[in-house]
Amino acid sequence: MTTPPLRELRWQPAKNVNFLPAIESKREGKPLAPEQIQEFVREFTAGNIPDYQMASMLMAIYFRGLSTAETTALTLAMRDSGDVLRFPKDKRPLVDKHSTGGIGDKVSLPLAPLLACLGFRVPMISGRGLGITGGTLDKLDSIPGYQTLLCAEDIVDQVQKVGCAICGQTDTMVPADKKIYALRDASGTVPSIPLITASILSKKLAESLDALILDVKFGCAAFMQTKAEARQLAKAMVALGNQCGTNTRAILTDMNTPLGRAAGNWLEVKESVACLDPRSSRREEAQAGESEIEDLRTLVIESAAHLLVQTKKTKTLAAGRKQAEECLASGAPRQKWDEMIMAQGADLKAFNEKLACDSTANVIESVKAEKTGFVSKCDARIIGEVIRDLGGGRLTKEALVNYDVGVDRIVKPGEPVKKGETLCRIHASTPAQANAAAARLKTAFDISSRRTKPAPLIVEVIA
Ligand code: URA
Repeated sequence: MTTPPLRELRWQPAKNVNFLPAIESKREGKPLAPEQIQEFVREFTAGNIPDYQMASMLMAIYFRGLSTAETTALTLAMRDSGDVLRFPKDKRPLVDKHSTGGIGDKVSLPLAPLLACLGFRVPMISGRGLGITGGTLDKLDSIPGYQTLLCAEDIVDQVQKVGCAICGQTDTMVPADKKIYALRDASGTVPSIPLITASILSKKLAESLDALILDVKFGCAAFMQTKAEARQLAKAMVALGNQCGTNTRAILTDMNTPLGRAAGNWLEVKESVACLDPRSSRREEAQAGESEIEDLRTLVIESAAHLLVQTKKTKTLAAGRKQAEECLASGAPRQKWDEMIMAQGADLKAFNEKLACDSTANVIESVKAEKTGFVSKCDARIIGEVIRDLGGGRLTKEALVNYDVGVDRIVKPGEPVKKGETLCRIHASTPAQANAAAARLKTAFDISSRRTKPAPLIVEVIA
């Protein structure tokens, strides 16, 4: 027998897969049966359907949409394409939060240890950043020794022992999403509500959660630019999460302004640790809402309060907020943070030494206000683009990230500034990069003579 030429070896269709009728059906706007969806997810993941056919199906879905029943079937088929985390029976509910991403969005970092201290188990599987949006794993990679890649067994083990783990998706979790997302990226089919819903929820449902809180952002630096689009996505995800047996809620939050006062991987870890510091809770009590990082604390507390209500640990949101605030003020979540990062290999001494540094970048430069007044705009998109171009974000999936660069001490809308005072500080690798960043950052801020009320952070809850 002669060896077949290489070209013939590349792609071998499985004997019984004829995907064309399903593509044609969707193209004509007809519903797909759950079995058809399960089959194409299974066969595409196994390599038995060529990319060009799957891309056609994705485009048909993009234009024709999917019903709730079809989206549920797609989500569950994607979840079941790989390992699903299995936890032992335990009275602590399994919970997580997902954010659609934004500038300075570091909520996951303080939230995971807070939730562990509130009696939850938190298997927080996170992702990396692409474009202007930062990723939780990139932030954690800036901690000396911290391991973001754990196998499923170690994730379950750490969550049982410590109460929380923040790590990446294992190779064997939701492989269908990895393959389908890569194809969506290359075929212009990312902005489809049912495909986004299935992609996000298949990964969260693989954590076997009891409850999930979604932070769906809108604004100039968000995946969904308008409130209406964010609401549509949030409603679809909440309906689907609940349909699949996970108590799911969403909050719609503003992403026109960065969250907190720092953006950039290491600077955000520093700010997260400051948020966990019990002294910051006491200062907030004393100054009634004048906290340095009030918006960040608010989102952390609100996310925890919703999960407390969703899991029936508290009856009302007000009671949930109080419990979360008291827990944060006790200092226990700050200690839990150290326990979590050490469980994932961090060198605590090196971490604390790094925390004590004002900056770990080569150059710091301040952007100064050119007039006296009140900040009326602090544009998160410009700040995100500047950080990406300083090397703090990725233009391509393979690009290396500089963890030390970023922007901090950001002055926020509604706050007063005097001419010559700092609007923000730039942490850069070289003076030339810092100067270029300063010129662009000047355009991120507007100063007006009258104080304008800052936009509300949380505009809606979808339960
Ligand atoms: N994030 C995801 O994980 N999937 C999408 O489709 C979009 C954003």
